[in-house]
Order: sequence, then structure tokens, then C-alpha cells
Amino acid sequence: MIHFLRAFLFAAVLFTAGGQPARALELAGNLVQGGLVTGKAAPGARLTLDGTPVAVAPDGSFIIGFGRNAKAKAVLRAEPPEGLPETRELTIEKRRYKIQRIDGLPERKVTPTRPEDLARIKMDQARIAEVRRRATLKTFFDTGFMWPVEGRVSGVFGSQRILNGKPRAPHNGVDVAAPRGTPVKAMGDGVVALVNQDMFFTGKTVMIDHGLGLTSVYIHMDATTVNEGEFVTKGMQIGTVGATGRVTGPHLHWGVSWFNTHLDPALLVAPQKPGE
Ligand SMILES: [Zn+2]
Repeated sequence: MIHFLRAFLFAAVLFTAGGQPARALELAGNLVQGGLVTGKAAPGARLTLDGTPVAVAPDGSFIIGFGRNAKAKAVLRAEPPEGLPETRELTIEKRRYKIQRIDGLPERKVTPTRPEDLARIKMDQARIAEVRRRATLKTFFDTGFMWPVEGRVSGVFGSQRILNGKPRAPHNGVDVAAPRGTPVKAMGDGVVALVNQDMFFTGKTVMIDHGLGLTSVYIHMDATTVNEGEFVTKGMQIGTVGATGRVTGPHLHWGVSWFNTHLDPALLVAPQKPGE
């Protein structure tokens, strides 16, 4: 298995016209497709990524993320309340993705046609989308991340999926196969933003809001053990591994998003040690 754990650190000091050092943009994280970058700007700064506004916490903290097919260049621009604006051109490393074939899924879950199924899918997607729109001005993510479950990685981020022989959307998270009932833990601090007992594709589902548009999702669980609105800390149990929704066997699908951009969860944590 290939790991993409890379860390880049950038720091620079700019000087204003008067020669006073101004707080420049600080960035840390993975400038790669699927990567998350955290940063610090001057408090009160206005930020855009490729022209789109980026949420900034009162202390100047922010997050940006790059999707599966992110372009090679991105432009981050910060306008501090005082001093000159700063523009940073970022180079995003390209990745190659696998093709994954999964057979034996219930056909109803691969090609849904029943009106009641389609209505459920639409409702599920609306609830998930509502959580992903939130820009909570908190930096719960500051305390870092961990694997939510111990097990065997059975699906990686970005794979082109062929389900029952039919091309489907790329895999947007990491799958960890583990026995039913294995504890599932919060990857980081945050507020439980969604708990659902029966989503069409994802079964028992929990979402956590880590602040500034960063959310994590834990799906196909056997049981959930938290409530919406509850604050959880990194490592706290939120449920157990199961086989609910569109699955062939018990595993945890772990997803991470920056607003609507799916990120690679594996880039946020150190590789699992063999045997863990
Ligand atoms: Zn999955």
C-alpha cells in the first residue's frame, strides 16, 4: 500500500512599506490532490482560493482542501486588515488512482429505480449537504487526527469504482475492514452534526463538524453511540463497525470533506502499523 503522508511547511515574513514585519500567511499540510492544508493569516484577514472566499476563524486560522481532480495550480490570496495583500501560488501534486471492482452488491443499491428509494436518496443527500455547507468558525481540528478504527484498509481514496460491472462515482474515502462490533472513534475533536440510523447507501451514519468546513463521516455502522449536537473529543467512541447500507461485508467507510470537496483521510494520519 502506498502512503502519501507528506508534510510541507511554509513560512515567510513580509514587510510593510514602513518596514514593520507583517504577519504573513503560514501554511502546513499536503499540497497534493486529496490533501488538506491548514493555515494562519492575520486576524481579520479576508481570504480567497481561486477567487472563492475561504472561512477564517477570529484568530486568523483557516483550512483549504484539494479534491481528487484538483488542478495543478491554485491561487491563495489574503487581504490583511492592514498592510499589503499577499498572493501565494500553490502547486498541487497530481496522483494516480486505482480501479476497484466490487461485485455481489444488491442490484437495488447499485441501480436504484424504485420511487421510494429515489426519494430516500434525495433526502439523505440533502441532509448530508446541509452539514457540508456549515462554516463553523471553530478550530476543533487543532488537536489533530487519528484512525477511527483498527483494521485492514480494503479501499483507498479516489479509486474508480466498478460496482456489479457498472462504472460508478470514484471512492471518496477510506474503507477499513474490521469485525462487526469493533469500536469506531472520532478522528478528531468536533461537534456531532448528523446521526442517522438508516440512510440508503450509507446505513447507520455519523458526521462530525471539526470547524471551518472540515467534516468527517463514518458509515455502514452497526450501532451509533452519540447524539447530534454532542461535543466529542479525538478517540471518543461514536459507534461500532457494521454492514448497513451498500456493502458486501462489515467495514467502516471513513470520509473527510472540506465543504463539498472530498479529501483523502489517509493523508491526515500516520500509516497503520502492520497487525494493528
Ligand atoms: Zn467506502
